[in-house]
Amino acid sequence: MTLTRVTPTRRLAHHLRARHDADCLERGLEVWDTPDIVTWDELIERMFALDRQAGRLTGRWLPAAASQLLWARIVRDDAQRSPLVSPAGVARAAFQSWQRLHAYGLPIEALDDADSQETAAFARWCRQYRQALADRGWVDGPQAQLQVHAVAAAPGLEFVGFDRLTPLQEAVLARWAATGLVLRRVPSAGAGGSAQRVGRVSCVDAAAEIEAAARWAAAQLDGRHDRRIAVVVPDLGRCRQSVRRIFERVLVPATGLAGGPVPESQAFELAAARPLAEQPAVGAALDLLEVFLRPPDLAALSRLLRSAHVAGAAGEAAARSRLDARLRRFESAGFGLPALVRLAAERDCPALAQALAAGQDVISSWPEKEYPSNCSKYVFGLLAAMGWPGPDADGTEYQAEQRWRSLVREFGACDEFTGRVSRAEAVGLLREMAGRVLFEPQELRAPLLVIDPETSAGMSFDALWVCGLDSTAWPPPAAPDPFLPRRAQVRHGLPCATAALAAQQSRLVFERLRTSAPEVILSVAEIERDAPLLPSPLLAGIPAIDAPALWCEPRVAVDQYSRRPALEALTDATLPPVQAGEGARGGARLLELQAACPFRAQAELRLGARALDEPAVGVDAADRGNLVHTALAHLWRELRDQATLRALDAAARRSAVKRAVAAALAKVQDSADELLKHLLVLEADWLEARVLEMVEVDLGRPPFVVAALEEPCTARIGALSLELRPDRVDRFEDDSLAVIDYKTGASAEVKSWLDERPRLPQLPAYVQALGPDRVSAVAFARVRSGDTGYAGVARAEERIPGLKVPGTRGGPRGCDSWELLLAQWRRRLEALAAEYVAGDAQLAPDPARACEYCHLGALCRIAETRAAVQGEERGEEWNDE
Ligand code: SF4
Repeated sequence: MTLTRVTPTRRLAHHLRARHDADCLERGLEVWDTPDIVTWDELIERMFALDRQAGRLTGRWLPAAASQLLWARIVRDDAQRSPLVSPAGVARAAFQSWQRLHAYGLPIEALDDADSQETAAFARWCRQYRQALADRGWVDGPQAQLQVHAVAAAPGLEFVGFDRLTPLQEAVLARWAATGLVLRRVPSAGAGGSAQRVGRVSCVDAAAEIEAAARWAAAQLDGRHDRRIAVVVPDLGRCRQSVRRIFERVLVPATGLAGGPVPESQAFELAAARPLAEQPAVGAALDLLEVFLRPPDLAALSRLLRSAHVAGAAGEAAARSRLDARLRRFESAGFGLPALVRLAAERDCPALAQALAAGQDVISSWPEKEYPSNCSKYVFGLLAAMGWPGPDADGTEYQAEQRWRSLVREFGACDEFTGRVSRAEAVGLLREMAGRVLFEPQELRAPLLVIDPETSAGMSFDALWVCGLDSTAWPPPAAPDPFLPRRAQVRHGLPCATAALAAQQSRLVFERLRTSAPEVILSVAEIERDAPLLPSPLLAGIPAIDAPALWCEPRVAVDQYSRRPALEALTDATLPPVQAGEGARGGARLLELQAACPFRAQAELRLGARALDEPAVGVDAADRGNLVHTALAHLWRELRDQATLRALDAAARRSAVKRAVAAALAKVQDSADELLKHLLVLEADWLEARVLEMVEVDLGRPPFVVAALEEPCTARIGALSLELRPDRVDRFEDDSLAVIDYKTGASAEVKSWLDERPRLPQLPAYVQALGPDRVSAVAFARVRSGDTGYAGVARAEERIPGLKVPGTRGGPRGCDSWELLLAQWRRRLEALAAEYVAGDAQLAPDPARACEYCHLGALCRIAETRAAVQGEERGEEWNDE
């Protein structure tokens, strides 16, 4: 008699089917029956349908997605709900509590004993939800378990992989058994056998632990690919990218040899479900829909242009990238789809223009309000018009696409829950549903499985490594359900209601894992960040083993490396030297870039590698810096000298500042949208306050005249002739000059001029342009909340209060006199100029400082070289966030 096998997870159902197929092949069979293996939820839905067909039940099945929509509506419409909480998040949690309430047999009446506001709210929602179901004759999953008839599961069921059945499942099974249905339970653990070997290993931290597990797995599989090996990693969903990187590096040596990432590896399977919305094809579908349904922002249009899931993406990739760059540079936030259609047609993107026009046709026929059943047709129509999902979907993408299509169909069956919805609401609901559905591709049958503890239930292996067995996670702390009364949770034994119940559940899972293979390694990290970790008490009595040398390096990697061809190393970090007529673009920025990173200087200034503009809302740091410069320039163009400033009383000074700020904002306001205009009003207050602070500082200085404001001048530094434009030059009474640079950031410090490669060499370069013997003070004018004033160096103290004097107490270190400092600057600037002229394009000597805000990482590939090595040494690789 063939029984239907029931599993707690889809992953286990897939695993059992795969093992069945492998066994049949091993026995030499060419054809065989597909085993009937379903999850518990799938079983209940199927039994409900059979009961209904046979007339044993009359209700209508309510799919989980529809049930969640109903919960979302009830929570959203609750007038007593705090406006501070997110209805979507609360609805999701409430839906889970509803499922738990049934699974653990809590009577609804227990909610009347509300011990918190959350429970009282949940009780209210439960009543509404039950009423909605009763009114329309719906039956959801939790309720269907109480109604389905055993005959629908004939001839019987075999339960595999359940650590523990819930009280509701136990009760249901008892009812079915009483009718004579055959029920069998396969113990969850026990593959270990009597000769089982179990040992424990300590590793420095989580990254070292994963690395050790990967090497152990490589050693286990070395030449023996018929073995089934697993590594269990708690919380795998959160750290899956870090885990993948480490396993790829160890098990797929080509990752390292090729110097870059490889496509998804076939050497291991990483079993961690993620929300469907995070699948690239599904995310692209949602983005596409949103672009048509609300005024798109530039970021959304940019994503559309770069998407591989739009018709003609491969053929028009370069033209679309250029269009993206143009949009970022020249278009304002009000730019919309019709303009994009026109631009796409004009700029060599005919397939895109055609797809967008077809999409607009679909949208124009989509009524403003429509039932989901019709909305789903428009969704499919719109995506088809845009050419989604594009060509060549691979296995995982194809599965994601299919799951998305079925989700849209599920949404289409929700007419009764939502009524007519607007187009934007429809897409919002789809996004919400796709965010809730967990998607797990089922395609790989690799010999090594990396999996989390819960999903591995019911599986057995030839060898198993379990990571993360520290005392903070095994057992985990109590985590009671927020919506169910605490006392009732304890009474009905919800697994995480108390620390004792959590410990009980934890031991159950641990025992199952410990006995899941003939060879089991249990590992624990010693440190998490800087805090020491203790081993779990569950490890007591398990013998420690030293990590054998065998795990140190997978043989295949060693072999590959030892057989590498003899290579000659060639560091190609020089461009052709600058030719006589080539000129030097960039002004003082040339020296700044060359000092920070010669590669960047050459790439930006000679090869034209420009950063894409970032679509931004409001006033960003660069805009603010420009406004400060412009306002101060306007002010001093009006005043001209300190004497005029001193002649003004406080009110007149304030008026002068207001005029200067208004003049600075006028140009921006002309082209601003409504939101930016509003933000500029706020910005004006900040700007006035800072400029007034600067004016107060200038009042306290010895007399000066403003000699130049943003006037062009030329500096000859080595073979370079640089066009410069100092923010301001003041003249003292002795005719000497102070050169001043306005700064709104935090980095304006004297020490930025004192390194061998000066970080901010603009002011030293201005000195060369104005003549070192004419300049007696060099200063940043810092314009920042709480820190407005001058910082710099001067030949003598009385020039500008607060400036440092070389060779005196408190003066800059490493130079004994003003003259020596100027000579140092000259020599260092000439060295930078010589490097640039020679075409020196080395990567940044100090990547930690230079690369943080650089846009050229993909071009220079520093992450794949030096920084990657340093990152690994520092253990930075262990963190997805
Ligand atoms: S990312 Fe770093 S090394 Fe690469 S170009 Fe930019 S600054 Fe230079």
